[in-house]
Amino acid sequence: MEVGKERSFCVNCGAELEPNAHFCHQCGVAAENEKPGQILSSDNRRPTKNVVAALLLSILLPGLGHLYLNDDKGYLLIVSSIIMIILGVFLLVPLLLFYIIFLYAALDAVRTADRINSGQE
Ligand SMILES: [Zn+2]
Repeated sequence: MEVGKERSFCVNCGAELEPNAHFCHQCGVAAENEKPGQILSSDNRRPTKNVVAALLLSILLPGLGHLYLNDDKGYLLIVSSIIMIILGVFLLVPLLLFYIIFLYAALDAVRTADRINSGQE
């Protein structure tokens, strides 16, 4: 059954309202028949991402958090991290670059997750 077509729900308690009801029969709050179901369905169905999971995955391996967020930048971050780790065994500069990638990936994963959760993406 489709949600939000003919049926509308109380914004306060969530009880299903009669088609022409002006007040909720459960809690008495005024019914908003002008926008039936729209707010409920669009807001609750927006995919949300776990910010902590994105951060932890980024710490585990830079780029993993981005893959979790469906951000293709993750592949680039993973590949460059691995290259820098391998080179970092012999050289100092790649090791420093890895730390920069690491910090950037962690911060950017959190920012991206926030953007997704606030509906900007
Ligand atoms: Zn109600």
